[in-house]
Amino acid sequence: MEINLFRLCSGLRVLGYFMILLVTAIIGVSYYAVVLLTWGPQLLGGGFHSFLSFAIIITFHVLLILLLWSYFRVVFKDPGSVPGNWRPVSPEENLEVGSSFAAADDGLERSRGGYCSHCQNGKPPRCHHCSVCQRCVLKMDHHCVWVVNCVGARNYKFFLLFLLYTFLETTMDTIVLLPSFINFFDEAKNHSSTPANLAIIFLAFVLNLAFALSLLCFLVMHASLLSSNTTSVEVHEKKGAVRWKYDLGRKKNFDQVFGTKKTLWFFPMFSEDDLDNIPALHGIDFPTRSDVEA
Ligand SMILES: [Zn+2]
Ligand SMILES: [Zn+2]
Repeated sequence: MEINLFRLCSGLRVLGYFMILLVTAIIGVSYYAVVLLTWGPQLLGGGFHSFLSFAIIITFHVLLILLLWSYFRVVFKDPGSVPGNWRPVSPEENLEVGSSFAAADDGLERSRGGYCSHCQNGKPPRCHHCSVCQRCVLKMDHHCVWVVNCVGARNYKFFLLFLLYTFLETTMDTIVLLPSFINFFDEAKNHSSTPANLAIIFLAFVLNLAFALSLLCFLVMHASLLSSNTTSVEVHEKKGAVRWKYDLGRKKNFDQVFGTKKTLWFFPMFSEDDLDNIPALHGIDFPTRSDVEA
């Protein structure tokens, strides 16, 4: 069973950059349908229609830029890896013999208390080993095939922005393609559009609707994770616990992912101040309830 699971994970890895091509193709089809076929030609018509198409085309491009910016930040940003000889610094740990770490005898005990037997290295709190990346990832949320990367401490904000902007873009596309979609059968009968163009509008509408609906589910799920300072991996750990130890209250939980600088909340970047003052953004140290309440 374990071997099969491993093969599945290696398969996901091979899938790799094919996913980036797929994302680009979906964006290309939507662009062609919304901007070039449906709303672009109405731009010069004058009156309300040309104002509406101007607004739609501008919004489409702004969302597209934000979406692609966030996307490539998630794809290329290291989600966070464990420094070479990381060790927990706690009073008990300090009493132990410092340097000889990976003794085979205590391997089992450490696998519970922060040791990864695959990487043969210490594991900071909230860190998990990803079997696709074959390494430990800091505050790992999940391995995402769409972004060909793990989502962890350092790119979770970028991932959430990518979700948000893709949801807004696909929802807008669905709405602005609806009139053409409704006319689809009339136009097919009257031959007022070429079959290829009709097919593209049909495909773009169905794809965008499907993405908008599934992204809505993801967004709701991640909004609830964000507000309780939990990762997708920790949902199972959290079950049964009365109060989740990393839950610092909604505002602080949000700051730990998005930073405190409001102007940067909507962009896939952080201020230097936040990077200096919020250790959670680096993924190694996390304040707990007891730290905050003390
Ligand atoms: Zn590991
Ligand atoms: Zn991974």
